[in-house]
Parts: sequence; C-alpha cells; structure tokens
Amino acid sequence: MNTRRKYNLEAGFTLIELLIVIAIIGTFLTLALPTYKGAIAKAQSRSCEVNKRMVATALEAYAIENGGSYPSASGALNELSDKGYLGQAPVCPANGTYAVEISADGKKINVKCSKHENP
Ligand SMILES: [Zn+2]
Repeated sequence: MNTRRKYNLEAGFTLIELLIVIAIIGTFLTLALPTYKGAIAKAQSRSCEVNKRMVATALEAYAIENGGSYPSASGALNELSDKGYLGQAPVCPANGTYAVEISADGKKINVKCSKHENP
C-alpha cells in the first residue's frame, strides 16, 4: 500500500513541467509557421506560373494550326479547352482567375493571373 502511494506520487508531470513543454512547442510553432506559409505561397506562385506558360503554349499551338490567329481573349481558355489544346482550363492554386491579353496586332500574347503578378 505504501509503495503504491509512492508510485502514484511519482507518476505524471508537474504543472511547471507541462508549462515548459507547452512553451517549447509554442516557440517551435512560432518559428516554423511563417516558413511553412512562405513555402506554401511560393509553391502556389510557381504552380501558377507553370499554368500561365501552359496556356501561352496552347495559345501558340492554336495560332499555328489556325493561320496565325489567336482565339478571342475573353473566351480563350474555354476555346482552348473545347478544341483540345488544353485538357481542361487550368485553375490558379490561390483561386486567382486567368486573363489572356492579345496585342492589337495579334502578335504578342500575355497570360495574367488576378492573384499573382506577372514577372
Ligand atoms: Zn495565380
């Protein structure tokens, strides 16, 4: 009986020990969270950049096969998808929307994302 009581007193953690562990975990999270969020934002930006290049490549392929003319800028993504140049219209990982700009002379294209600025 006496040994059991002694065992119970030694089991578990004191409040001070728990507070120290919680403070250490909190410090680690405070240090790691900004890095994690930065890595997520960077990955989304890179993915968006790849999507924009893919749309630009599909636009070039469309122009090559259609006598050098691009689809209308407003419905370019849908037309590329419908005609098979894109499997499906890409979606920005940060929920931005893509817009296609075609120069007046029809020789220069630019794909923009509403959430990620162009380089
Ligand atoms: Zn984007």
